[in-house]
Amino acid sequence: RAKRSGKARYEMGDDSLAALAIRQIEIYDGLHRALERHELRLVYQPILDLSEDRVTGVEALLRWDHPERGVVGPAEFIDVAESRELIVPIGRWVLHEAVRQATLWFSEFGADAPRMWVNISDRQVGRHDLAGLVRGALDDTGLPVELLGLELTERQVVRTGHSVRSDLAAIRGLGVGLAIDDFGTGRTGIDYLRELPVSHLKIDRTFVSGLGQDRTNTALTDAIITLGRGLGLTVTAEGVETSDQLGRLRQAGCHRVQGYLLGRPQPPSAVAATFGAGFGAPTGAGPEQEQPP
Ligand code: C2E
Ligand code: MG
Ligand code: MG
Ligand code: MG
Repeated sequence: RAKRSGKARYEMGDDSLAALAIRQIEIYDGLHRALERHELRLVYQPILDLSEDRVTGVEALLRWDHPERGVVGPAEFIDVAESRELIVPIGRWVLHEAVRQATLWFSEFGADAPRMWVNISDRQVGRHDLAGLVRGALDDTGLPVELLGLELTERQVVRTGHSVRSDLAAIRGLGVGLAIDDFGTGRTGIDYLRELPVSHLKIDRTFVSGLGQDRTNTALTDAIITLGRGLGLTVTAEGVETSDQLGRLRQAGCHRVQGYLLGRPQPPSAVAATFGAGFGAPTGAGPEQEQPP
């Protein structure tokens, strides 16, 4: 309870610039120590392949167990981490932790082991030689390269320069998957798809949530799926919450789905129970698991 009211005070209190700056400094200070204090952890959300009807991937999502505020989601701290370059050491930790977990699952589940999808920030790419870091992680663990993928938001991809693009090309050259995350929200041209060696598109949840309700979102979702398929990319829809949305996505030819309907982000042992298992015909009853994100 005390944690809740503390959080509410942060979020609903004084919105002045000074208050915002103080809050960001507090987040930065805490985040700075969160790594060494082991307050960061990853939760994993299953990704269901519709043609195979089984979980073939998971997305790693960062959580911060704040000593006073309880579980803090990335929406509250990723921007601060990115603005101060803290995302570089944090992103390095995320990559190593996710690869470590993926390797454990590979030794436990073999052919049923999921591909691990890791969110990265453009700040980690280019100058910081992400390709070298990824190659090192794969070499150290022996994780098969096809069991790793990186997600970069469209917003970040479009503002990247040459060094970032060549680093991404090197990563893709290793055989690691590269997904454009939040596709459709970049407010920009899509010509970068010609230059970047992308393998996957993830349709942003704002499109999915309007499926069947709203003509524009329905048309846009269909168009993105057609575009992705036409380019030979694997298309994943995120934020799938209802069996109606799942049915429509299946109909439209979407390859994979991810969302609360199929499973929330959850700790490693809980998500492992979904590996290799199919979901069958959608029941409409979403599994109720773990904490809200
Ligand atoms: P994202 O990569 O687009 O991840 C999907 C977000 O949607 C996650 O929020 C997930 O919990 C949420 N989600 C999944 N299914 C549903 C659903 O059915 N309904 C709704 N309403 N939401 C759903 P989360 O975990 O809060 O992460 C937010 C964003 O923070 C991520 O968006 C990603 O851009 C960023 N992020 C998370 N972890 C990392 C990380 O390790 N590194 C970096 N650089 N960014 C991260
Ligand atoms: Mg993502
Ligand atoms: Mg996304
Ligand atoms: Mg998103």
